[in-house]
Amino acid sequence: MNTTGLQFIDDVHLKPEQRVFIRCDFNVPMDDQGRITDDARIQAALPTIKRALNEGASVVMASHLGRPNGQRVEALSMKPIGERLSELLKREVLMPDDIEDDHAMTLLEHMRPNSQVMLLENLRFYPGEKKNDSVFAQRLARMADVYINDAFGTSHRAHASTYGMGKYFIAQGKEKAAGFLLKRELENLGGLLKSPERPFWAMMGGAKVSDKLGVLTALIDRVQGIMIGGAMAYTFLKAQGHDVGNSRVEEDLLEKADYILRLARAKSVEIHLPLDHVVVQNFNDEQGTTTPNAQIPAGTMGLDIGPKTRAAYANIIANAGTVFWNGPMGVFEREAFSQGTLTLAHALANSSAKSVIGGGDSASAAKVAGVLNAITHVSTGGGASLAFIEGKSLPGVEGLRINHPFNLG
Ligand code: AMP
Repeated sequence: MNTTGLQFIDDVHLKPEQRVFIRCDFNVPMDDQGRITDDARIQAALPTIKRALNEGASVVMASHLGRPNGQRVEALSMKPIGERLSELLKREVLMPDDIEDDHAMTLLEHMRPNSQVMLLENLRFYPGEKKNDSVFAQRLARMADVYINDAFGTSHRAHASTYGMGKYFIAQGKEKAAGFLLKRELENLGGLLKSPERPFWAMMGGAKVSDKLGVLTALIDRVQGIMIGGAMAYTFLKAQGHDVGNSRVEEDLLEKADYILRLARAKSVEIHLPLDHVVVQNFNDEQGTTTPNAQIPAGTMGLDIGPKTRAAYANIIANAGTVFWNGPMGVFEREAFSQGTLTLAHALANSSAKSVIGGGDSASAAKVAGVLNAITHVSTGGGASLAFIEGKSLPGVEGLRINHPFNLG
């Protein structure tokens, strides 16, 4: 245990008779038929699960899946995840139908740890989960002697399973700790805040400035510069007085964008905006044309950064010590507008810089580019990694601390 009262799974001496509750992030993408399309999040949880199993513990796992809004939605049942876990762990996965009925406890009491594990139903079927209801949190807590949170992707939420239940694991014989996945996230993202290899650059893109105002402002105190792409760039370009045609702009944020530009200038932080674009007349057009400069012709909208911008950003990446990337540079889901994002994913992979991808779409883009293995750290949580970089405390981590105020009553 360190001075902050946080311990990790490798600090906990699990005993064979103990029951371990592992809050995982099994919120995997599924197709219309309810088949898992990418099991990366399940794979990422395996080291923690296997550690508990190797120590002979009885393992109960739980996660949310999608947004059932506190109701039972069969299409969002954890059953497909249970099947995948069963294949990966080579064990029977017990799945009680209802967490709130005593059958789950009876099943758990009779579970055979050598050949069985338990997976609870979607936590968000229960309104108590998102409300951090204490009765629901206690019900979950009663299932185990040891509580492990490994769900980094939801660690910025104070829900019953990510936060509230931690309160019940400080009594004699009850322990709580962060799993391996959460540990790796804290080490890698923490490294960006504590001792990044310099020059430290950020590359930010995606749909909206509004989602990223906090992180942009926080980054200004830490980085040499920020490269901006995606739809976000147009709000900044417009704030600078450029013509942006029909490109997506958040009119209500022009002043804030201008403030960020001025703040950066005052602190000698470089903000790079696109030098050229790939534009279309209608959002659904299949092909775009490249503009000669940063101006966007009237009647058109930008859907990707152009080749001059790609080259300029790639050059910065090649010479950086650290790069943090969040958000695509264009509408990367469509091939004609994916070149900016893919080129820079390759630039990141080819650079000797330490590279950290803040989850979500940028992680998918790195996967499409086939460069995931060449990235230093790909975070499993988009929102959570932004909250962390912004300097916010994560309830999913705070609730694990032995000295957290809620432990005192
Ligand atoms: P975010 O969730 O904020 O990271 O935004 C990701 C989304 O932004 C993706 O679905 C992209 O298609 C979209 N996006 C990126 N660039 C543009 C653009 N120039 N115009 C419209 N949407 C964009």
